[in-house]
Amino acid sequence: MLTGAGKVAGVVGWPIAHSLSPLLHGYWLDALKIDGALVPLAIPREDFARVIGGLQGAGFRGVNVTVPHKEAAFALAHFCDAAATAAGAANLLVFHADGRIEGRNTDTVGLTEAVRERMGSLQGRTIMLLGAGGAARAAVLALDGLGAAKVHLLNRQADKAVMLARSLQPAVRCEIMPGGLEDWDKVAPGADFLINATSAGMKGNPPLGLDLAQLAGGATVLDIVYNPLETELLKQAKARGLATIDGLGMLMHQAVPSFEAFFAVKPEVTAGLRACLERALQHA
Ligand code: NAP
Repeated sequence: MLTGAGKVAGVVGWPIAHSLSPLLHGYWLDALKIDGALVPLAIPREDFARVIGGLQGAGFRGVNVTVPHKEAAFALAHFCDAAATAAGAANLLVFHADGRIEGRNTDTVGLTEAVRERMGSLQGRTIMLLGAGGAARAAVLALDGLGAAKVHLLNRQADKAVMLARSLQPAVRCEIMPGGLEDWDKVAPGADFLINATSAGMKGNPPLGLDLAQLAGGATVLDIVYNPLETELLKQAKARGLATIDGLGMLMHQAVPSFEAFFAVKPEVTAGLRACLERALQHA
């Protein structure tokens, strides 16, 4: 049961102007002819808890949560799903009628669906995953769920990869092998699938600068960065003739459970939605 007479939800972050959530949810609201709204709200860190209380009181159904509030959202929630608990971070808060706030993390399901629709199962595969932040944590859980055998977890600061591997290994079946980006040459030739889960290559950030010539010809490259949609990494992978997956699939799929929680209908990820987001990104 959800609170509130109106069908209104929010997305909170600082800054928030770049968020594609209002467009994405707005597309589904139009397509499904639901008279509702998802409102972008720029909330500084120090105001987060107070604003969440205010939105709950005003009848909002919940909020999507983005940088820098995901850990605060996890701490504020009265109860959390397994993914948010594993991540220590929530990207979705659902306001329930009894006043309790539920924290969820939909990044794992988003990446799982994005990979499944392009590659199916990852049974027995060896993956090279770059990064050791929130997105990489969600990615390890997604890869494990898809049956990956081995995940080489490489991060600029190798000690963070070691810590992440240590915290996740007891919860997963795949073997996590942590290291630094300097291990690239050693690991790349044996990887079936490369995933960038760092913020390198994002608009305003330098690209990773890795030599993709080391990857096997049958490897697939996924970049979870979606702005720009075609990152330097994906350009290089295409130039080598490798299969590529951009970050929009994950973005669209991670929004499905939040739309369903807010508006009580499960929306579909369609080519029309992708085209709408691609157009917006061309002008971002
Ligand atoms: P985060 O927790 O801040 O982690 C950032 C990671 O990027 C760290 O591992 C960091 O390495 C690494 N990094 C940053 N700059 C780097 C550089 N120049 N070279 C190499 N590594 C670098 O961020 P996050 O939440 O995991 O998000 C990471 C990216 O995923 C962001 O671009 C975000 O937009 C994207 N994302 C996309 C989706 C989607 O739906 N497609 C969903 C979630 C996140 P150090 O630890 O060494 O600093």
